[in-house]
Amino acid sequence: MQLLSRGDAGPPVAEVRAALEEMGILEPTGPGPALFDEPLEQAVRTFQQHRGLITDGIVGPATYRALRDARWSLGDRMLLLNTQQPLTGDDVFALQERLLELGYDSGRADGVFGRQTEQALRSFQRDYGMSPDGMCGPRTLRHLGYLGRKVTGGRPGLLREQERLHKAGPRLSGKRIVIDPGHGGADRGALIGAGPEAVTEAGLVGDIARRLEGRMAAAGMEALLSHGPQDCPTDAERAGFANSAGADVVLSLHVDANTSPAANGLAAFHFGTGTGATSTVGEALAGFIHRELLARTRMLDCGVHPRPWELLRLTRMPAVRVEIGYLTNDRDRAALLDPGFRDVVAEGILVAVKRLYLLGQDDKPTGTFTWAEVLQREANRPAAAR
Ligand SMILES: [Zn+2]
Repeated sequence: MQLLSRGDAGPPVAEVRAALEEMGILEPTGPGPALFDEPLEQAVRTFQQHRGLITDGIVGPATYRALRDARWSLGDRMLLLNTQQPLTGDDVFALQERLLELGYDSGRADGVFGRQTEQALRSFQRDYGMSPDGMCGPRTLRHLGYLGRKVTGGRPGLLREQERLHKAGPRLSGKRIVIDPGHGGADRGALIGAGPEAVTEAGLVGDIARRLEGRMAAAGMEALLSHGPQDCPTDAERAGFANSAGADVVLSLHVDANTSPAANGLAAFHFGTGTGATSTVGEALAGFIHRELLARTRMLDCGVHPRPWELLRLTRMPAVRVEIGYLTNDRDRAALLDPGFRDVVAEGILVAVKRLYLLGQDDKPTGTFTWAEVLQREANRPAAAR
């Protein structure tokens, strides 16, 4: 294909514009000829950065493919084998990841619906009492745990959380975690700059959520995102999703902002009214996350606090919200824009969850437990321990 860069125009440029606008990375423009202008170039760079592509602002084959793939999320269309022209997209990738998590060998998750993906899907359908037609539609998605149901009922006793934690065992494998990236869709959360060049909270926490999701899946956990990048459910809906998914833990990721550029640092929140009821497990997890991240990043300590916020209150499992730095602070923002830092944050959170399930039986000082060690420990324990 022809490379697209600044100064180009025509239908291929229009297609790139449309894709980036749909993702919310590019401000929509009115009708008129589609130009590859500076805002578009910035949007392409932002997209490339988020996808781990070379950030050159030029649309070549890899970026073009990624743009096309990114427009699909699971549930948008029926997925099935097409040997002539295999379906590709983020939805296929999500399906493969889910099948792998559930123990069905769909091959390496590559976002291409091939023969092995179909085989794995058929096996899954057979095991779950569906007709093994190899097609992934609404019914199959429901069985895969992707479509949430409406939730009824209130929050059970906080003591039950502790009981469940003690029964849960130290292994991460099999634990179901809902990762809740704050904001989403048109709501970008905290924001610095304007238009497509803006650095947004939603973009940053979405990226950290994906890094965390990948690590959790590798550790044998079931990591579910509370929503796709296009959606912004209310906090009550996010809590409902976690409840219907039967999550063990909910992790809500945010970045803060303040009118003062001097404000900076890391804070963690768990359910509590401040005067009486407190989720002790939530508090413990918030404390572990807080300590691990402080030790690994040297952000300023803004404390651990009880809050009666909806997401923390309506969830029936321990839930923690972290505010990872301030977008309005130069130093915090520079850190957040570094993918290496976002990896460190993801790793720190994963280790904190591991600590929660170890119930204090670890011998590693805060900040020193590595992801590799977590994986190794997981591998060394008998699978039957769950
Ligand atoms: Zn936020």
